[in-house]
Amino acid sequence: MPDEHHKIAISTGHSVASPGVLSFNGTPEHVYNTVLVEKLLKYHVPHGEWFRADHDCEDLRYPKHLRQTIKNINDADCTCAMELHHNASPKHNAFGSLVLYADGSELGYLLAKRLADVFTSNLREMNVYPNIKYLGKKNKKAFLWDTVCPAVIIEPSFIDTLDDMAWAELNQTQIASSIYEGLLGWLKAV
Ligand SMILES: [Zn+2]
Repeated sequence: MPDEHHKIAISTGHSVASPGVLSFNGTPEHVYNTVLVEKLLKYHVPHGEWFRADHDCEDLRYPKHLRQTIKNINDADCTCAMELHHNASPKHNAFGSLVLYADGSELGYLLAKRLADVFTSNLREMNVYPNIKYLGKKNKKAFLWDTVCPAVIIEPSFIDTLDDMAWAELNQTQIASSIYEGLLGWLKAV
């Protein structure tokens, strides 16, 4: 990517008003996602800045707040967009990490692949569970499909068991630094 001014949109999975599915011990997804976003935003974007795209209010609850987040990203003419989204499943029976991108978006695919590669090497070396299960594939999640810029949804963990929650909490710093490393690699390569 030429060294023009980069604006990297960050979306926090869910919101205060709609905090997402509860983890195994009752802490909502949004709490985990906020910690991760704060850690990532401490890094410096070369030739650019972060753009906090979140829209969070009682009036616009999930998924309407997401429409506004997407509009914010598109209005701001961002270089790319990343949603950070630790997940929980209603039945607490999911696991693994995912990086999702919109099918047909070559730049989105390259960003997702870069992130998944960095996750695999950085987080596997620590011999932790879970590993990256697979790279994102065709997915109807609106965030991916409706941003003008390439976008990914990063789902580092399912916080469905006490073990996985401990993993997520222990590795938030490492996950944030891996996302940053993957982003820098992508910015250089494309
Ligand atoms: Zn969620």
